[in-house]
Amino acid sequence: MIPATFDYLAPSTLEEALAALQEHGDDAKILAGGQSLLPVMRMRLNAPEWVIDLGRIESLRGVRDEGDAIVIGAMTPHSVVGADPLVAEHAALITRAVDHLADAQVRHRGTFGGALAHADPAGDLGAPARALDAEFVIAGPGGRRTVGADDFFVDLFETAIGEDEILAEVRIPKHTGWGACYEKFVRVAHQWPICAVAATVRMDGGTIAAAGVGLTNMGSTPLRARGVEEALVGRPASEESVRAAAARAAEGVDPPADLNGDADYRRHLIEVLTRRALTSALSGA
Ligand SMILES: Cc1cc2nc3c(=O)[nH]c(=O)nc-3n(C[C@H](O)[C@H](O)[C@H](O)COP(=O)(O)OP(=O)(O)OC[C@H]3O[C@@H](n4cnc5c(N)ncnc54)[C@H](O)[C@@H]3O)c2cc1C
Repeated sequence: MIPATFDYLAPSTLEEALAALQEHGDDAKILAGGQSLLPVMRMRLNAPEWVIDLGRIESLRGVRDEGDAIVIGAMTPHSVVGADPLVAEHAALITRAVDHLADAQVRHRGTFGGALAHADPAGDLGAPARALDAEFVIAGPGGRRTVGADDFFVDLFETAIGEDEILAEVRIPKHTGWGACYEKFVRVAHQWPICAVAATVRMDGGTIAAAGVGLTNMGSTPLRARGVEEALVGRPASEESVRAAAARAAEGVDPPADLNGDADYRRHLIEVLTRRALTSALSGA
C-alpha cells in the first residue's frame, strides 16, 4: 500500500529537529532508517502528518571512544556498528548481535538508535544493551538526560523517550576482554528471532568474575536474566556451572505464543540457548 500523505522535513541539526518535534507534536514522527516506520506507514497503521528525517544530522552518526565507555550515535547504521573496531574490542556482544540482525540491505539502512527506540521485544539489540548496562542519552527541549538500560524499555514498543524527545546516542561501558555470544534461534536465515540470548562474561583466573545476560522476545521488553548471572559469578567455568546457571534462564519470563512456538516451547528453548551462549562466551573470555 501507499502511505497517507505527509509533509517531510530534513533538519541538519539536532536542535532544529527538536524544534520541529515541538512545533508539530503528536502529528509528527521521527524517521531514522525507515526499516520499521515505513512498513507501518505503508500499512497505514500509522499516518503522521509530518515526518522529521534525522538522516542529515551528522552529529548523530559514528562511534567514539570516551575513556571508560564507547558512544554510538543513534543514526549510525547497523552495518557501520557491526564493522566498527572500537565496538568489536570493547562491546563484542553488540558486534555478535548485529551479525545476526536481518539481512545486508536492512543492516545498511536501519540504525542502531532507530532499532532501540522502536523497542520491538523481538529486536536483536535490546538484550545486548541490557546485558552491557548501556545508557541512553535522550535530547529534549530542556537539554539532555541519561536513562539506564533497566529503565529505558518500558513496555511493548514503548521506551522512556518522551514525545518531544530524540534518542541522541547510546553509551556502553567498556567490556574489554569479556567473552561474548549472541545465540539467536530462527526457522530460516535473516528472520526475527523466535527467542535469543545475549551473554557476556569476564574471567579472573579460573573463576567467572562477572556476567551480563539478556533475553530477546521472552516478554514485552528485552529482559535481564539476573538469576543466571548470580548463578555464574564466583563459579569455575565448567559445564556444571553453565548447566546450573542456564536452568535459571526462564525465571520471571513471560514469553509470547505464536505460530513459531508456544510459551512453554520458548521457556525450554531459552534454557538451551543460554547454555550454548554461555559455553561460547566462556570459551572466548
Ligand atoms: C525485512 C526486515 C527484517 C528485519 N529483521 C530484523 C531482525 O532480525 N532483528 C532486528 O533487530 N531488527 C530487524 N529489523 C528491523 C531493523 O532493525 C530496523 O532497522 C529497526 O527496527 C528500526 O530502525 P530504523 O533506523 O530503520 O528506524 P525507523 O524505522 O526509521 O524508526 C523506528 C521507530 O523509532 C523511532 N525513532 C527512530 N530513531 C529515533 C530516535 N533517534 N529518537 C527517537 N525515536 C526514534 C521512529 O519514530 C519510529 O517510531 C528488520 C527490518 C526489516 C524491514
